[in-house]
Amino acid sequence: MVRLTFLGTAGGRFATITQMRYSGGIYLEDDVRVHIDPGPGALRNAWAMGLDPFRTDGILISHCHPDHYNDAEVLIEAMTRGGWEKRGILVGSHSVIDGKSDVGPAISRYHSSLPQNIFSLEAGDKVRIGNLLTEATPSVHNDPSTIGFRFTTSAGIVSYVSDTELTPDIIDVHASADLLVLSVVQPRGRFLPTHMSTDDAMEFVKWARPKLAVLTHLGINALKGDPKKEAEWIEEETGIPTISALDGMSISWGKEGEGPGGRSDPIRRIRGERAVDGERLFVVTRSKIPGSFEPRFPEDVLKRPKLDLGPDFDIDGSDDEKDD
Ligand SMILES: [Zn+2]
Repeated sequence: MVRLTFLGTAGGRFATITQMRYSGGIYLEDDVRVHIDPGPGALRNAWAMGLDPFRTDGILISHCHPDHYNDAEVLIEAMTRGGWEKRGILVGSHSVIDGKSDVGPAISRYHSSLPQNIFSLEAGDKVRIGNLLTEATPSVHNDPSTIGFRFTTSAGIVSYVSDTELTPDIIDVHASADLLVLSVVQPRGRFLPTHMSTDDAMEFVKWARPKLAVLTHLGINALKGDPKKEAEWIEEETGIPTISALDGMSISWGKEGEGPGGRSDPIRRIRGERAVDGERLFVVTRSKIPGSFEPRFPEDVLKRPKLDLGPDFDIDGSDDEKDD
């Protein structure tokens, strides 16, 4: 049994800053356990969902924007048992690991020294984490070294598309996955350069033809609308089962009793919501993350008058040369 748990489904700066939804990334459990794109709150929500960060085997970061990397250093400290045990793998784009194109690195030299292995990947590179073969996939994003991840798990292919615009090449490398996870910042009819909207996601799903498509990394405009309806529209247009992820949602599939949890796993068995595809059964469940926030919108904040500290503001209160 392979399981994917959404520790947050917010994407983009305003949905993240306001915590309209959580932003803790995705946790993939097979024979090994990896945490993908751990944004703000990833550590807290891993514990809240009963996922032990001390047992994480790999931390994977697609690019150098804080909604994707924010909690990585504390998660490295957990993975390496406080830095006392050389274990685990850190994988990231060149911008995350080395720093590139005026961004990054996201991880300090000290934290980069803690894991057993560290890999700075570009599209096409492959790395094996235990049984999990991981291939970096291309992206077109405003962090130019952004990558996605395509995992070959014990129960099939999981393809994760990080922030990107839609291109035929990117669709090709993610084609025919069992589970396709798409970062969809904008709803239908809206456009943000180097990100996908629901319109793009529909085209992606239509051509990539996964067994199940999941929308996540939802921006403020997507969240002000109805993400569930957006997913239903994609399903109607493509005939491919499509769902919009929720905070605390888990998707598990593969043979019952194999891999993490088995039959007695409490999170997976809370509430079966949907099963699709005759040959492959996906079980989608949701466990409310304790202490979930009420959605809040940033308009009020943005409308507030700017706090004008004045041109001569000085922390010491002393005059500087501008006054001379
Ligand atoms: Zn980004």
